[in-house]
Amino acid sequence: MTDKVFISDFDGTMTGNEFYKLAASHLLPTNALDPWRAYLEGRVTHFAALQTIFAHISAPEHKILELLGAMDPDPDLAGSVERLRSAGWDVVVASAGCEWYIQRILAMAGTELTVHANPGEYMPGGPLRMQAPEDSPFYSLETGVDKAAVVRFHQQRATAVAFAGDGFTDLPAALLVRPALRFAHGDLAHALDRRDERYRPFAVWTDVVNTLLDPGEGP
Ligand SMILES: [Mg+2]
Repeated sequence: MTDKVFISDFDGTMTGNEFYKLAASHLLPTNALDPWRAYLEGRVTHFAALQTIFAHISAPEHKILELLGAMDPDPDLAGSVERLRSAGWDVVVASAGCEWYIQRILAMAGTELTVHANPGEYMPGGPLRMQAPEDSPFYSLETGVDKAAVVRFHQQRATAVAFAGDGFTDLPAALLVRPALRFAHGDLAHALDRRDERYRPFAVWTDVVNTLLDPGEGP
């Protein structure tokens, strides 16, 4: 029984790279990120942008698995998860990406976690078909998975909830946790800076784990 829950974004937070960018740069034509631009301009949802990008992937499965190897997960991912668990923390992944690649990368890193992400399947030769988790209690039209709803769910049950992320879609979830348990870098850190909201910066995921285990002076 754990009473502390660390909810983590996946792409760019547990890994150095983001799957949609790797797929676009290695497997897709130059206009592959047009859907992403449409999302940034507010013309389509975050979910629709990723779904469209993934729907254009055409490659044998071994090519995709090679790409997963290039996602650069935290080198101490499995060890860090174990250290957290020993200290009474549960780790939960909340991602607006696709569960298909997240589960594979976690397995490659030698760990197993609860994952709230958009379900999907890699068809033989492609593409990656991502679906909206419409039956999930955490379903959101905008991102597929509502990370803030995952945080709220655990806040009703746990004594402490921490959150770490790196992107704009992480902002609502990050704002729900107190600054000492709010970890950010990249676009999320910039978004928090603009709102004058405090947080703990991190470089790699294991930095977050080290801070949770030895908090010291918080923001
Ligand atoms: Mg991210």
